[in-house]
Amino acid sequence: MAEAKSPAPIAHRPSPNDSLMARFNEAADLINLDQRYRDVISAPERVIIVHLPVKLDDGTTRVFEGYRVIHSTVMGPSKGGIRYAPFVDLDEVKALAGWMTFKCALVGLPYGGAKGGITLNPKIRSTDELERITRAYTRMLKDVFGEDSDIPAPDMGTSGREMAWIFHEYSRIYGYTPGVVTGKPLHLGGSKGRVPATGWGVMLSTMLGMQKLGLKPESSTVAIQGFGNVGSWAAKLLDDQGLKIIAVSDHTGGHYDPTGINIREAVKWLKKNGTLEGFEGTRISNEELLALDVDILVPAALENVITEENAANVRAKLIVEGANGPVSSNADHILDGNGVVIIPDILANAGGVVVSYFEWVQNRRGHYYSEEEIRDKTAPILTEAFDRVWATHEKYGCTLRIAAYIEAMQRLATGIDLEGNF
Ligand code: GLU
Repeated sequence: MAEAKSPAPIAHRPSPNDSLMARFNEAADLINLDQRYRDVISAPERVIIVHLPVKLDDGTTRVFEGYRVIHSTVMGPSKGGIRYAPFVDLDEVKALAGWMTFKCALVGLPYGGAKGGITLNPKIRSTDELERITRAYTRMLKDVFGEDSDIPAPDMGTSGREMAWIFHEYSRIYGYTPGVVTGKPLHLGGSKGRVPATGWGVMLSTMLGMQKLGLKPESSTVAIQGFGNVGSWAAKLLDDQGLKIIAVSDHTGGHYDPTGINIREAVKWLKKNGTLEGFEGTRISNEELLALDVDILVPAALENVITEENAANVRAKLIVEGANGPVSSNADHILDGNGVVIIPDILANAGGVVVSYFEWVQNRRGHYYSEEEIRDKTAPILTEAFDRVWATHEKYGCTLRIAAYIEAMQRLATGIDLEGNF
């Protein structure tokens, strides 16, 4: 029997790929981008659908559908995570792959962009089942993955555990190849600082954005939607900077405390119980969290949680996108009209892929850095990208998002020209 797809959550609509293309076209129009670049950038290089027959623990066989979209290899081997969620579909994976191309180009990594996904609910699968599914997916894509061709990493629903299985399965076929995948556990060639990297980049972007807006850490309040790897690390690191986190949430709902949430307790609660359900604070819905009167809002869960339907309710001055695509393209215009500044996903959450790049470099050199060295190498990359995006936003009088797309597109266009493949 094939694994059933659950309907995408309401928050998942409209199509993430439409949102990506709308921004892309807006940025391309602003700089009069030649049609030939538009054609190359708007069509993914390869779209792969796989069907994985896997034996379940009860002895029955189920066929899981998976994807790998290689959006672009113009700037180097394609790079991007693998998502396990019941609503994963091709449209979403295509958009996520495109965002990886833009993200890597924006921060200047020698990578193109890709994304993978398997339609499954990891919460109802045993560890053994997940291992069999992950190994089957790796075998099916053994000719696609490669340290010089396509390099996966964790994303929603996956972590170092799945990366270890991919690394091991691939190395069984081709011999020891740690650089084929990043986000591995430390003991298997992972990098120090990779687990907190995305949340750390979100923190850094928030601090840079606050400086520009004249917001002071000690008097700023934050609401964070999503308490997975990105949201929980962003919460902890922003708390360390002295900001007051007054609301957090996960898929079970939100917790609000105007005097400040105890983030360390929230992390402990999550580790013990698996979700935030039952944690302290007034219960609020995820929708209410987005409309809280805070200075900074960090959506770090799903795509399209802020759409034209609820954008007008947002009261934050600054949105920092921990998730990929949390604001739909229609919502962008409403937020901009209301003076809300957005630090876009491809900039705000790029810390993860930057540290992935350093993991890959370490694997290939067989020489490993301390956590401090990783941070010292990552911070200037993100800060420089932020400054460039800010300057472009001022130059064109456009949003930071469109400025980030312009920056990324200009690099891609140069790469396309230099390759000379026309
Ligand atoms: N999945 C992460 C992202 O969306 C990380 C990708 C990577 O490290 O390759 O940026």
